[in-house]
Amino acid sequence: MSEVTMDKIISLCRRRGFIFQSSEIYGGLNGAYDYGPMGVELKNNIRDFWWKEMTRMHDDIVGLDASILMHPRVWEASGHVSNFTDPMVDCKCCKSRFRADQIDLAKPCPVCGNKDSFTAPRNFNLMFQTHIGANMDSASVVYLRPETAQGIYVDFKNVLQSSRVKVPFGIAQIGKSFRNEITTKNFIFRSCEFEQMEMQFFCRPGTEDEWFPYWRNERMNYYHKMGIRPESLRWHQHGPDELAFYAKDAYDIQFLFPMGWQELEGVHSRTDYDLTQHQKFSGKDMTYLDPETNERYIPYVVETSAGLTRNVLMALSDAYDEEQTPEGDVRTVLHFHPQIAPVKVAVLPLVKKDGLGEYAKNLEKDLRSSFPTFFDQSGAVGRRYRRMDEIGTPYCITVDYQSLQDQTVTIRFRDSMKQERVSVSQIVPFIHQADMEYKRV
Ligand code: ATP
Repeated sequence: MSEVTMDKIISLCRRRGFIFQSSEIYGGLNGAYDYGPMGVELKNNIRDFWWKEMTRMHDDIVGLDASILMHPRVWEASGHVSNFTDPMVDCKCCKSRFRADQIDLAKPCPVCGNKDSFTAPRNFNLMFQTHIGANMDSASVVYLRPETAQGIYVDFKNVLQSSRVKVPFGIAQIGKSFRNEITTKNFIFRSCEFEQMEMQFFCRPGTEDEWFPYWRNERMNYYHKMGIRPESLRWHQHGPDELAFYAKDAYDIQFLFPMGWQELEGVHSRTDYDLTQHQKFSGKDMTYLDPETNERYIPYVVETSAGLTRNVLMALSDAYDEEQTPEGDVRTVLHFHPQIAPVKVAVLPLVKKDGLGEYAKNLEKDLRSSFPTFFDQSGAVGRRYRRMDEIGTPYCITVDYQSLQDQTVTIRFRDSMKQERVSVSQIVPFIHQADMEYKRV
């Protein structure tokens, strides 16, 4: 096993169609990325896994898909208009721009090396502004949402009144968010356009002390279930300097990315701050009347907030490996858990001729309704296996001359590279079983 670097991941992503720089033929756009044929499958699989685990597997969580553009007062109420800022400095010599909290201002500029060249720090609001309608005046300003959570708070009453939920319950949402990040390095880790998977859990004041550890536990187990190696995940509790003034407690789940331990997801105990703010700014009642106790209160919130695109980078970093083969060369392989692999089953005829290609194509068509499949008949079979290893396909089915005689095929396992002979009629249950028994070695 050799060291996983960001450059290796970026290069594989480009080579195999996972992720491209946005607008590459025009020189690229900083902080924006396109998900190619493999990337979109991987991202959708992670998204669907989160949605299933957070909504279908919990009978007290419902879904929402709020719009990206919201009333500008929402962002005044939430504090984003006045507080969602990063301190920014410029180098007066080379014009490079940095986040003041990520750089030592006493040292020379890391880009041009000049001393005492930084401007005084000034606050820079991270929200993207645009205008709604034909007028470009200040009255028409709207923002691209910098987080999905506010859509959930603003719709709290609508959901409560239109579905049969009772406190405690949660609302889950996946969608795009936008932040005008000053420094966008480390590939898709921090981009200006990204996706979030957030859940706000509403509970009776006082019970957040039970729900907060419950959700911390659920969220860490989620990553284990997704197949991420536990030793690459850890907790970081926010210290007094990091905690938002209204928050009771906050923990981040960190992942060991190629550039070090970094935040993957936040689990926050947010009190009744958000709903109270929206009650104040909208003038609408945000209280909940408990039908059993007749108590009226503004619910407390425990939030789980994960980056979907950051989860994609985690999945790639965790899966990436370069192995020495017995033949003495290097095999690049993505050890994705089968449930998130972009392609689950590849069907490869040993050779195209003698009816093998046709047999394999028909088999691949039959398997499509059960699994995401891929058919490849060009080049030496060893090269085709390597291509599948590089996109993390867990099972390669090979059709050979014996298949035509006795309706059996070989199934090659990506991680061990071992092969087993299986009857065609047993392929689907065999793979389901192998999925259930999958363990990362
Ligand atoms: P930071 O302080 O690093 O800018 P944050 O603590 O403000 O980030 P949150 O607002 O808590 O981040 O966002 C929740 C999650 O959304 C993060 O854990 C991360 O996974 C994801 N996220 C936030 N900003 C970005 C971004 N610019 N690009 C990709 N994902 C992001």
